[in-house]
Amino acid sequence: MSVKVKNITKLYGNQKALENVSFSIEKGEIVGFLGPNGAGKSTMMKIITGYIDTFEGEVKINDLDISKQKINVQKEIGYLPEHNPLYLDMFVKEYLQFCASIYKMPKNEVEHIIEKVGLTPEAHKKINQLSKGYRQRVGIAAAILHNPEVLILDEPTTGLDPNQLVEIRNLIKELGKDKTVLFSTHIMQEVEAVCNRVILINKGCIVADLRLKELKEGQEQLIEVEFDFRVEKRFIEEIPNLLEAENTFDTTWELTFDTTKDMRSVVFDFAHDNGLKILKLNTKNKNLETLFKELTL
Ligand code: ADP
Repeated sequence: MSVKVKNITKLYGNQKALENVSFSIEKGEIVGFLGPNGAGKSTMMKIITGYIDTFEGEVKINDLDISKQKINVQKEIGYLPEHNPLYLDMFVKEYLQFCASIYKMPKNEVEHIIEKVGLTPEAHKKINQLSKGYRQRVGIAAAILHNPEVLILDEPTTGLDPNQLVEIRNLIKELGKDKTVLFSTHIMQEVEAVCNRVILINKGCIVADLRLKELKEGQEQLIEVEFDFRVEKRFIEEIPNLLEAENTFDTTWELTFDTTKDMRSVVFDFAHDNGLKILKLNTKNKNLETLFKELTL
């Protein structure tokens, strides 16, 4: 099931929340929708799921236009909104049976979903007795009850403790095996842990759309090196594969290479050939974190 978003612009009064946003997601992808708070992630998700219907542009879920066939599109989408609205006074099973009745589904389907999202040990409890992690599972269970092919999850891991985080990440990965998943987050590590692609949004505009594999392969390598003496830049610039050399402090340099090949031995050879000693050397990779910082300033 594909999701195609074309030239979406959304204004709240005079404020532009989204500007000319376009992307498409193919079946089987787990895509992280990454951006700082206020970037426009929730607004985009509400548009895709049909909860906001005044906007410019076009959203198609498997060729069905959300503006023209909202009900049919919503049958194909499972949505976990940001604040996961639940009826706290209801029992887990009771709540999910209530949700199932909205979809006119048989009640016994709920058992299977409870098991699928790992809620079995807590299924007899009231929702207000559950931890945040288990509440998220209830929200996810409600989102997948009608077996949608597309899952839209708005900040599903925010506020979870480290164990819950790992469990919910694994659940999303598991669901991503047979569903198309778009999930929003403002945390880079979430994307690295769960997704195969990232769409980076800032101030309502898409600023990057990358496969995580490409990002790893295309990484630049950064080496911070401290020599025992000052070196002139023209000598430093003789080091092969060097993209940039910055004298960050006294005898310390930050060297950027356009290769993922480990360049440490080359730097050692350079020091040796020029009669220098290396006092300190660190390598860093230009990862999603660096990209996020650069693109969301
Ligand atoms: P994110 O999910 O990335 O945090 P949002 O989509 O919630 O971003 O918000 C994008 C921008 O639109 C923000 O500046 C936010 O204040 C504004 N915004 C969101 N919802 C409304 C609304 N209902 N009315 C007015 N402004 C809104």
